[in-house]
Formats: sequence, structure tokens, C-alpha cells
Amino acid sequence: MTSRVDKRLTTSVAPPAVPRTMSDERASPPDAGEVEGFGHLPLHAKLKAGVRELGYLHPTPIQERTIPDAVGGRDLIGTAQTGTGKTAAFLLPILERMLDQPTGRTLALVLTPTRELALQAEGFLKKLGRHTPLRGAAVYGGVGMADQERALRGGAEIIVATPGRLLDHMSRGYVRFGQLRILVLDEADRMLDMGFLPDVRRILRELPTQRQTMLFSATMPPEVVRLARDFLRDPKTIQIAETTAAAVGVTHLALPVPQHLKAALLKELLVDQAMSSVLVFTRTKHRADRLARQLQFWGIPAAIIHGDRSQAQRINALEGFRSGRNRILVATDIAARGIDVEGVSHVVNYDVPTEPDVYIHRVGRTARAQRSGDAFTLVSPEEDDNFDHIEQRLGIEIRRARIPGFAYDAPAPPASHGTGSFGRGGGRRGPPRGGSSSGDRRRGGGRPPERRRRPNEGRGHERRSTW
Ligand code: AMP
Repeated sequence: MTSRVDKRLTTSVAPPAVPRTMSDERASPPDAGEVEGFGHLPLHAKLKAGVRELGYLHPTPIQERTIPDAVGGRDLIGTAQTGTGKTAAFLLPILERMLDQPTGRTLALVLTPTRELALQAEGFLKKLGRHTPLRGAAVYGGVGMADQERALRGGAEIIVATPGRLLDHMSRGYVRFGQLRILVLDEADRMLDMGFLPDVRRILRELPTQRQTMLFSATMPPEVVRLARDFLRDPKTIQIAETTAAAVGVTHLALPVPQHLKAALLKELLVDQAMSSVLVFTRTKHRADRLARQLQFWGIPAAIIHGDRSQAQRINALEGFRSGRNRILVATDIAARGIDVEGVSHVVNYDVPTEPDVYIHRVGRTARAQRSGDAFTLVSPEEDDNFDHIEQRLGIEIRRARIPGFAYDAPAPPASHGTGSFGRGGGRRGPPRGGSSSGDRRRGGGRPPERRRRPNEGRGHERRSTW
């Protein structure tokens, strides 16, 4: 099996140490020349060289529309889905505007909801700015404070931070934002969902008012609109995609299945080696752990990422997935927010999200940057209403399919963990392509599978609904 992970564009997420000069990675810039497709944008040749080395040939629509105004210093609201290239759309203008500034002071701050996003943005920053003397640092929770303190005291010019950890540093008195010129609020709707808006407001009240502010959000709920009204000045709004639309290039498919057979169905799906890089979403951390263990039991290795994993475990899981070492990554929504992996071939919604926006964000993990991908959703009868709601929001009817030969009527094991732990559950192998239309919305018939006992089966302490 060949991995579809495109290493050329893959971002490293090594934990940040003391901030390095971005030019450390290569001392002298190559002859920048003109980058095809980026030539007309108002960016210094050093930045165009960074862009070219990342393999970008043309600006994405949001870069095309954001960069000129952002370089001009204008406040902006960008409504764009993840995967549209918005990170470079704000990082390039920051770098451009900071190029001539005296160094040694924090000049730009990017606030982002999760540590993964902070690390990713910092990774892009290092790459895009490698031919400049500017320094960047990521500041986020779950790791020690000392390196970050040094970065903040040392005046790294560009700080990418999660709100809670930044406030911790600010309360200690050594953070100096007096020279700050640019603020970016990234994924503002997710900051709202995660309860960070009060922290964001506290930080914003401490910043100089003479600054440029850019706010990016996939959706614009009222609280985010209020935030923009309170902290942006005469912003220009740049809307890239309908906020109700899922990423272009995604093929959606629903797989109706009883709750207790979900794991067995997923196992059947994974037989298809075309599923080369699979991101599986579960509703809870517990379900993520249980599913990964179940897959492991079947000899299908899967990495896990969720909020209870240590930072080292999360980085390791992401690295393994990015590099193609792990074909499967089981994730919860918050941990997976903004995960940027090139070439995710399939997103599997093991659980139907309760909110259409969450569905959009999840499936946006595939088909990133104008590629294509598949999004499969395992829909139990109890989840039908939620799924209907998602279809209404997206304005599409998602095709239902069944896996031929899969034992859809296999009974739930007594006092089981509800994992659908059938060693040979389902019969025939093969992808669910060619499945039927909405007539197949409910489960169908099939041969009951032979059952394999699991070591811990039958203890029955847990109610099935918790799994
Ligand atoms: P983002 O929406 O910022 O998370 O970016 C999504 C993915 O698109 C990342 O992997 C970027 O490396 C990639 N990307 C950003 N800009 C471009 C571009 N102009 N051409 C190709 N890929 C890009």
C-alpha cells in the first residue's frame, strides 16, 4: 500500500524550543525569482521563495483576496472553511509587514483555539519566513512554561498562542505587547465553542488599540459578530465559501448500521486498501480509546488523539499519521480541530455529529487544498434525525450504501461493550461503492457472523449506551 501523504507539503510539529531565527534552517536565501501565480501579490522576494519551497504554485482564493488588503494594513474578517489556505493568507501579510520592523519586540500575535493549530501555524511560519530574520514561537498549554517564557521575554516577533496559556504568562508580568501591531483571531467560532471568548476578550483589552486586526472564522455566530464589532475597525469582509457548504471535492456516503455493529462495519471498510489514510471521529474520548483498542485487537493498528492524551502522545500520533506510519488515526473533534495532514483519503464519522458545523469541519480534514477525498458516516437508527439535519443544512441528500454480505442483523452480544466485536463479522470484502439509494436507509439482512470471544467480554459493567 502506498501512502498518499504528500511529504513535500507536510508540516513538522516538533515541540518548539527557544525561538529560533527563522533563517536558521538555511543561511542564505536562494535566488527568489518570481513564483508562478504569486508574482502579482505584494510580497517580498524572500517570502515568495518561502512560498515556492512549500510547493505552492498558485494562491488559493482566500490568499488571492486577503493578501493585498492585509499587507495594506486593513482590518479583515475572513469567513473561510479550514483547508482553504487561510493560515498562509494571514501569515504572509504578517511577515511582509514585519520585514522592515526593528526586531526584538513582539509585533504580531495569532490567537488560535488548540495547541495543534498553534504548532501548525508556527510550523508554517518557520517555513514561509525562513529567509527573513523574524522569529516566531508557539505558546500553548500542556507543556512546561520555561521555553515559552524565554520566547516571550526575548521578544520573538510573532507569537502564536492559545488563550489560556497566554493569559497564564501575562499574569506573571513579563509579557510585553506594547509594540504589537497585528492581531489575528483564528477559528473564532471554535474559540467560542470551546468557551475561550472571555479569555480572548481579556487578552484583547491588554493590547494596544492602534493595530491591525484580522478575524477568521468558518461560521459567524452572533457572539463572534459581537467580538468583531467590539475589536475591529471598519473591517473588510472576505467570504470564501458558503458557511453551510462542506469542502468541495468530498464524496459523502452514509452507511446505516446498528450501533453495536459499528466497529465491525468499520473493520470491513478498512479492508479496502484504497483507504490509505483514514481519520476516524468518535463522539467521546472514551469511545476513541475503545475503538482503537478494538481495532488493535483485530490486528489493525490505530493511533489516537484526544484531550486526555499527553502532548507527547498527541504529537507522536500526528507524526505517525502524517508520515504514513499509521494508516488510521482515531480522534475526537476538539483534538482534531485544524489537523492539517496532506492526503487524508477518508474521513469516517464513527458517530454522527450532533451539529452540522461539526460535520463540515470533520469532512474538511479530507479534500484539503483542492484535493479530493471521501467522507463516510456510520449512521445508527438513533442517529437518523441528526443526520437528516446535517443533510438539510448542507442542502444535499447523501447517498446511503450497504456493504454486500455484511451481517447487518447480527444480534448485540449479551452484556457486551457494544463494540460489535465480531471476529469475522460481515462477509464479503470490498468498498461500499455502488450502494443503493435512500431506500437502504435502515439496516438490511445478512448472515449472522460467527462470533469470537474477546478476553474481557461478558463482564458487563458498562451500559451499552456509554459505548
Ligand atoms: P489551511 O487552510 O491554512 O489549514 O491550509 C490547508 C492546506 O493547504 C495546508 O496543508 C497548506 O500547506 C495548503 N496550502 C496553503 N496554501 C496553498 C497554496 N497556495 N497552494 C497549495 N497548497 C496550499
